[in-house]
Amino acid sequence: MSSPRPKVAFFRRARFRLTFYYTAIQLLCLSALAAFLYARAERSMFQELEKFIRDDVSDLMARVYELKDDWQTIQARLDTESRGERFYELSFRLLDPQGKMLACSRTFREAKTKPITETQLHDALDGEAQEEIVRLPDRAHPHLLLTRPSYDPQTKKVRYVVQTLAYLEPLEKLTRRLRTNIFSAIPLFILLTWFAGYALARKVLKPIGMISRTARQITSTSLNERLVRSKSGDEFDMLSATLNDMIRRLEESFTLTRQFAADAAHELRTPLTIMRGEAEVLLRSGTRDPAAYQAVLESTIREYDRMIHIITQLLLLAQADAGTVKLGSEPLRLDELLAEVGETFKIVAEHERLTMEFDSFPEVVVNGDRARLHELFANILDNAVKYTPPGGRVAIACAVGQDDVRVAIADTGIGIAPEHHEKVFGRFYRVESSRSRETGGAGLGLSIARWIARAHGGRIELQSAPGAGSTFTVVLPLPVALESQAATEPAKRPPSPPA
Ligand code: ADP
Repeated sequence: MSSPRPKVAFFRRARFRLTFYYTAIQLLCLSALAAFLYARAERSMFQELEKFIRDDVSDLMARVYELKDDWQTIQARLDTESRGERFYELSFRLLDPQGKMLACSRTFREAKTKPITETQLHDALDGEAQEEIVRLPDRAHPHLLLTRPSYDPQTKKVRYVVQTLAYLEPLEKLTRRLRTNIFSAIPLFILLTWFAGYALARKVLKPIGMISRTARQITSTSLNERLVRSKSGDEFDMLSATLNDMIRRLEESFTLTRQFAADAAHELRTPLTIMRGEAEVLLRSGTRDPAAYQAVLESTIREYDRMIHIITQLLLLAQADAGTVKLGSEPLRLDELLAEVGETFKIVAEHERLTMEFDSFPEVVVNGDRARLHELFANILDNAVKYTPPGGRVAIACAVGQDDVRVAIADTGIGIAPEHHEKVFGRFYRVESSRSRETGGAGLGLSIARWIARAHGGRIELQSAPGAGSTFTVVLPLPVALESQAATEPAKRPPSPPA
């Protein structure tokens, strides 16, 4: 069953957020662009107007100089000039350098214009042109007031100060229209951007929806399913590939865990079944013979021991998986440890009519956990004894190299076919289950042995062939090699035992 689809608030959805940010950026850029263009347009309209006024005033002043102080005619001329059919309504005022008005046209006369100010006059006399926006009563729009000096063509000195009033109504109307256009176009454009952006974000993010839908359907029982890849090589395709890889690893891990649980249950059920069977047979027989009870109890204790052994091994593997096993790292004499294990197994070997061979080992110190290393060699020796028929030989040899020490445990037993070499280190793996059951193995010994070797920075090598015996070589690093390894590598936790 797939997990329910998680509810994501609309405004939290990636496609909404993407569209929102995208539109907000668009709005910002558009507003900035519109403001810039508007300012430029307004400025150039002003410049055009100024140029137009300048040309007009030059023409007018040429006529004024021609009329040579004929103020009546000049006055008439100014009136005609200001009445002319123009885009902008213009009005003129002529003053002498002292600021006294000499002539002016209609607007200056009729509207309540202020006389020229001291500053305006001084600036004009200094040769500076002045412009300012003025508002006249009764006029809806402002005027542009330009004050300029006029130079006598002969003396080249300021002879007059000319003031021009331009009614800005056409310019104001134009800019207002421009503003209206901008303000109505921007929201329209933003609306369009929003819908286009949303559709685009939806299309781009579609694979995420598909990935999430498929991922929801994948549960521990359907881990064989995979996300469909677009093979486009884009980020979403890579994400699908990564997730598929993760699901594959999860599937492997789940399969192993399931297998492990089934194997463990099976291994524990066997001794229980035996104990129950024996008890039942005894009860049914109705015997009162103490020897019969004693035999069953002894068998029960054997099965208990077997179960305790399996459970202890399982517990160790579980702790190793969880990384909670604390391993000692004391310098210890490996030669002494080998002699000790060897002596113990010599007795077992003799009991099985096997020859156990080992000479005195070269003195060698390794860093490690004594009990675990003991367990490692015991597991291998136990197998060597178990899987070697009577009359065979088991030998332990130790060779100290430059960086490591190699302990080889060789037997002349039944051997292992190459296809099983890697598998024998797996959990609950037995080459021939029935034979192992007889000999009491649950298939966990080598799994634990390999984990211990790896946790000590070493490994186990196997050379074996059916009928030709087996040699398990435990390679452990020497303390010097360990130190240089530690200096180059960051601290690692002991590795998990093989699955
Ligand atoms: P077990 O407890 O069954 O011995 P192990 O993990 O120690 O489990 O070994 C796994 C399997 O590897 C054994 O069941 C056996 O089939 C094979 N094996 C291990 N050691 C030897 C050996 N020395 N000679 C032949 N077969 C071996």
